[in-house]
Formats: sequence, structure tokens, C-alpha cells
Amino acid sequence: MDSGSLKALWSRSLALLEGEISDISLKTWLVPLEPVSAENGEFVLAAPNDFHRGYAEQYVPLIRNTLKSVSSRDFSVRIAIQGHESLARGVASTAPASGGAEDSGDFRSGTVARAQLNPSYTFDSFVVGSGNRFAHAASVAVADKPGGRNFNPLFMYGGSGLGKTHLMHAIGNRIRALHPETKQLFVQCEQFVNEFIFAIRENRYEEFRARYRGIDVLLIDDIQFIEGKEQMQVEFFHTFNALYESGRHIVLTCDKPPQSLASLESRLRTRFASGLIVDIQPPDYETRVAILKKRAHSHGVDVPDDVLDFISSHVASNIRELEGAFTTVLAYSLLAGGITLDVAREALKDIIQPSTLRKVTPAVVADVVARYYGIGSDDLRSNRRSKEVSDPRQVAMYLCRTMLDMTFPQIGAEFGNRDHSTVMHACSKVSDGLAGDQPGLRADLDEIRKRIGG
Ligand code: ADP
Ligand code: MG
Repeated sequence: MDSGSLKALWSRSLALLEGEISDISLKTWLVPLEPVSAENGEFVLAAPNDFHRGYAEQYVPLIRNTLKSVSSRDFSVRIAIQGHESLARGVASTAPASGGAEDSGDFRSGTVARAQLNPSYTFDSFVVGSGNRFAHAASVAVADKPGGRNFNPLFMYGGSGLGKTHLMHAIGNRIRALHPETKQLFVQCEQFVNEFIFAIRENRYEEFRARYRGIDVLLIDDIQFIEGKEQMQVEFFHTFNALYESGRHIVLTCDKPPQSLASLESRLRTRFASGLIVDIQPPDYETRVAILKKRAHSHGVDVPDDVLDFISSHVASNIRELEGAFTTVLAYSLLAGGITLDVAREALKDIIQPSTLRKVTPAVVADVVARYYGIGSDDLRSNRRSKEVSDPRQVAMYLCRTMLDMTFPQIGAEFGNRDHSTVMHACSKVSDGLAGDQPGLRADLDEIRKRIGG
């Protein structure tokens, strides 16, 4: 199709789409797409970046229908990234809706299915921090050398959204890459249970057994699902033993430690404990920032540090929520025309209620100041008098005075029981510095205040 007809077809489609989706979605997600080609039944549109592409993809079925009404042709629709080499290729990357059916692990087919692994959950995309370091190391060890007694079974537990499923897929992806001959099976525990029930009902229990017992690495996610299901636990115990005794590897995730799994068969609990049990803790601040940086990088967007800091400071308990908040900010910034702290605040105003906004206390001030200058908040309360500690301490005192209206004695008590005259001196030194010859100081204070969020 020549470029004139291509453009005409797309603009007629857009006109029709106008009645189908909200004006704002149309302008945000569809108008910026550029028609690139319509060859071999494939209509290719270019999005400005990967993030935009990801969002626009939800409209592919709608676009396809619209193109059909406008042109009476049934194109497949692909959204590519502008300037990306895959634009030129005529290879469809949007798999048909039924794509991957052969991977679906339907045991009724009688074959051992390939694990349904999410290719983006890899060790490369996993950020290691204090909360998950051990779980990560154990996962890598298992993936490198599955089988045998080391870390077998590997039992990883932790709260929701902390990366358990991600690690499990990463193990599977790495095994697939390093040991392609290894038969592995990744299942949600719920799927395991459903298949078991189906097998019993349909008298196909032998098939079920064969399927699970013929594999080298069994990855079962969210094992807490067997809580309270006694018959299932017995079956699982037998499967588990059969695999374990023949040197196969088992990896389990759970939202709680084995001893807290209610009504778990004690034999099973002992089995779980015979391998390695590791927990995953919520990410610390540095890890949260690192995760967002990685996300920004993979989306190809530049996100200012203060925005990363804002999101990481306010969404602390769970990585899934952290990513959700980040995506919201990115979506919002497309509408707003840029990513700034104000845009982030506005985008997250429903998620971060004023009540959950960090309440500013002297401890928060100390924490932010210490982090800003790269020292420990204990240092601020210590007797150390070296400049690298005493300058930040003076800044923290000044901020307690100006932001929190504390009295000099109160501030003194907060910072290592110092005399009120010491505090007065600190505060006037900082205000003199601001008024005088220390241009860097104002920028430091602005940044620290912003991070404190008061
Ligand atoms: P869980 O299974 O523990 O509930 P998930 O593995 O589903 O959590 O993780 C939730 C989201 O957070 C996923 O998108 C995952 O990719 C992401 N995530 C979790 N931990 C990390 C990490 N350490 N580095 C990068 N992304 C992570
Ligand atoms: Mg999970």
C-alpha cells in the first residue's frame, strides 16, 4: 500500500474510533501512532516508545475491527516502536490470541508440557537487595545445577508482591537456557490441585501421576493453596517423594513459612524443612529506587531522581504496588508532557493519601539528611565532630527548627543531648550560610526538604 492510502486508511479509522473510546484515551494512545506499512495482511503502527506501545496494545482488537469496517480487509495489527529495526520486518510479533496453546500444560494431552514461563521474569531483570539476597542466591544455585540434594527442596516464602513468582520463573528460564534437555514444569498450586481433582473424577489418575513424576524440575508456586486439603497433601507427599528420591529438584513458594501452614501433614512439613527454607523481606529504600531505575531504563524513559525518590519513599511495602505506582506516573506524564515531581504527586494523589504521606518527625528529618549526605543517622546523634558529620547535623537541626518549629532544647535532646546554645549556633550558622557565600547549601536544603516532603 502506498503511503498516501496508508495514511488515509488510518485517519478514517481514527475518525471511526472517536466514537468508540474516550477522547482522552484516543488522543493519548492512538493519535500518536504512525501508520508504517500494510503488507501481507499486516498493518503496522509505530509507537513513540516501548511504554507507549505496551499501553496501546490493549487497543489492537479494536483497531483491527475498525480497519475491517473501513477497508473491508481483515488485517492483523502490530504495534512496533518507532525507529526500531523490527519496524521494517514483516514478521508478526503479536501472537494470535490462541498462541502458546501447546504450552498450556494440559495434561489431558498426555504429554509433559513445557513450563509456561514468562520470558521477562529473569535473573537479569531481578534487582538484588538486602531483602531478597539469599533467595536470589539460592535460586541461581538451583538453576545452575538442578537435581541432587543441594537446596532441595528450595522453599521460598514471603509476603505478596515481593518477587517469589519472579524468582521461580527466573529459575525456569535459566534452566531452559542452560539445560534445554531438562524437563521442567512450572505450575500454580491451584492448577496442580485442579488437575488432581479432574484426574480423580475422570478416572485418569495414572495419567496425572505419570505427568508429574516424569519431570526433572518441578516448580510449584503458591503452595499455601494446599492448606486444609488433606487428600491433596497426601498425593503431593507421594509425588514429592517420588521426585525427590530420584534426584529431581523441587522448588516451592509460599506466602508463609512451612510451620505456619495450617493443617499441613507433618510428613510434608518435615520434607519441606529437609531442604533450604529462605524468606524474602520487603525491599529497602535503595532496592526500591534500583528497581524503578531498571524499569525506567527498560522502558527507555528518563526519570528524574526526585521522582524516583518520591515514589520509592511513599510506596514501600510491596514491589507490585511500587511498579503500579510507577506505571501510573508514566502514563500521567504522557498526558502532562513530562515527568516532574509535581506530575508524580498529582498522578499518585489517590494512592498516596495525605494520611499515608510520611508524617514529618525529627527522626524522618534525621533519616533523610543522613541519607542525603551518605552518613548514618546514628552519626547525627553521636559525639563525632568531624566536618562530614557536624555539617549535616547542623542542617538537620536547622530543618527541625524551620520545618517542625521545635525549640532549641527539644532539638538538642533529639541530637545526642546537646546543649541549647549548640543548637542555636548550628541554626544561625546554616542561615548565615544561606544568606552568604554558600550557593550549594541552598540547593542541598531545597533537595532535602523536597525529599522530606513536608
Ligand atoms: P510474589 O509472587 O511474591 O507475589 P511477584 O514475583 O509476582 O511477587 O512480583 C511482583 C512484581 O514485582 C513483578 O512484576 C516482579 O517482576 C516485580 N519484582 C519483584 N521483585 C523484584 C526485584 N527484586 N527486581 C525487579 N522486579 C521485581
Ligand atoms: Mg506470586
